[in-house]
Amino acid sequence: MLVIAATDSSGGAGLTRDVRVLTDLSVDALCAVTAVTAQSDSRVAAVYHIPPEVIRAQILAACEARRVGAIKIGMLGTRATVEAVVQSLPPSAAVPIVLDPVLVSSSGGVLLDAEGRAAMLERLFPRVTIVTPNVPEAAALLNEKPATGEDALIRQGQRLLALGPQVVLLKGGHSEGEEAVDLLVTGHGIVHRIVSARVRATSRGTGCALASAIAAGLASGAPMLAACQQAKRYVMDMLRGAR
Ligand code: PLP
Repeated sequence: MLVIAATDSSGGAGLTRDVRVLTDLSVDALCAVTAVTAQSDSRVAAVYHIPPEVIRAQILAACEARRVGAIKIGMLGTRATVEAVVQSLPPSAAVPIVLDPVLVSSSGGVLLDAEGRAAMLERLFPRVTIVTPNVPEAAALLNEKPATGEDALIRQGQRLLALGPQVVLLKGGHSEGEEAVDLLVTGHGIVHRIVSARVRATSRGTGCALASAIAAGLASGAPMLAACQQAKRYVMDMLRGAR
């Protein structure tokens, strides 16, 4: 499986987390680094964006080296990086692509600038199999207020779906309530609810871990709903300290 993402020097999120998840799930990780970030848990101290030609070269070489069963895309940072990734992806539909639309770190650092965000929506959304926003990300991507309630969230999911991905997974971890409900909005007007008890703990890198675990499931041939359910169980274990 290929991970296209940025490093996090604190080890909590990004590529560092992704590789750990794939190791736990016994899936080989190929990687293309989009940026090097200097972070602690409380701040993003510096970001170095890898030159687009080096990103393209990494993706092409990874696809040459091994069969890629799925691709996970995390932090992109800039428009130039989004373009480099779009230009290097294998032909549509050949490989499932999971996009975690990383916008800001939980410490508040901007991880995708405004031009990059526009490019991600225009150029990358139509190419991906699944996009995995949380509630604040879904709202930010649509320039709307965060949805309150499941119906409003589903409507946002449908608006994101109209931008091109095959399915949208809306992560309910930032909502209130005793249950954590993720909503898988599909192109056939079907919405699956993926429900678990709410774990009160928080951790860095839960979004990265979920997207990587979904991609690992898809790479192993799991159908989309099963891959999302298994990935959620993985993240719940991680929050409970069992991973
Ligand atoms: N840093 C990098 C490099 C990331 O890729 C991501 C998320 O994907 C984050 C930070 C954000 O993680 P957190 O919300 O745990 O800060």
